[in-house]
Amino acid sequence: MIQDIYPKKFDNRYFPNAEPDENSCIMCFSGNTVLCDVNSDRLFPTVSQLKEPADMTYLFSVGDVKYFLAFDYATADENFSAVKIKKLRHEKYEMRDKLFALFTSYHLYKWYTSSRFCGECGGKTVPCTGERALLCTGCGELIYPRINPAVIVGIINGDSMLVTRYVKSRGVENDALVAGYMEIGETPEDTVRREVMEEVGLRVKNIRYYKSQPWGYSSGLLLGFFCDVDGNADIRLEETELSVAKWVSRSDIKGQSDDLSLTNEMMMFFKNQNS
Ligand SMILES: [Zn+2]
Repeated sequence: MIQDIYPKKFDNRYFPNAEPDENSCIMCFSGNTVLCDVNSDRLFPTVSQLKEPADMTYLFSVGDVKYFLAFDYATADENFSAVKIKKLRHEKYEMRDKLFALFTSYHLYKWYTSSRFCGECGGKTVPCTGERALLCTGCGELIYPRINPAVIVGIINGDSMLVTRYVKSRGVENDALVAGYMEIGETPEDTVRREVMEEVGLRVKNIRYYKSQPWGYSSGLLLGFFCDVDGNADIRLEETELSVAKWVSRSDIKGQSDDLSLTNEMMMFFKNQNS
């Protein structure tokens, strides 16, 4: 999965005074693009490759590479251009530690840019010195990075698993599983039951936790569950969200085009073992 970067280690300790060195990657986002040299092994610019100095903050390290976020969109030498993050995810999937750093940087970028003002009083926020948080200069409210929990559900019916495709497949069309964001007041198991009923009209039982995955592209934390269909296995498709939902036998499960996602991990786990 995208977070499995061993032997490299992700270190998200907060060092507000850290300065970039010549090996550091400077993450420059604009919308859903990032400044990138697709022909380079490091993908992202160093501080000396930026055309002008940028206001930046330390994010985290991956292995011995420190990552910084440039607050104002910066430009770099001619090898760099703004590349869609989704495109990099599909074309550079083998550069897993870089992609994990990219997704996690993007998560923090989205949070920093959407939290410039306080939701309580409208005051300006400034970085906190002791922890990764923003402090409102008007009322003192502390704002922490927002993480959106969601579930991914492997629904099992004997020797088959329910495989879906989304109506809006953005870019590469991959098989998927029933999935959805948690709503207020729900346990993850409640979300599993609700999403399965909404998307494919099935009752489920024996809900069991499998694994999780941080997915910074959608500011998410994905929780994977397997469960068994309870009673009638006839699928009622929610057509605004899904174009396909069908039972696929264990031997016919294909998985996705790369092994970055928890969805793919769950499909291959079912295919290769018992769940
Ligand atoms: Zn405030």
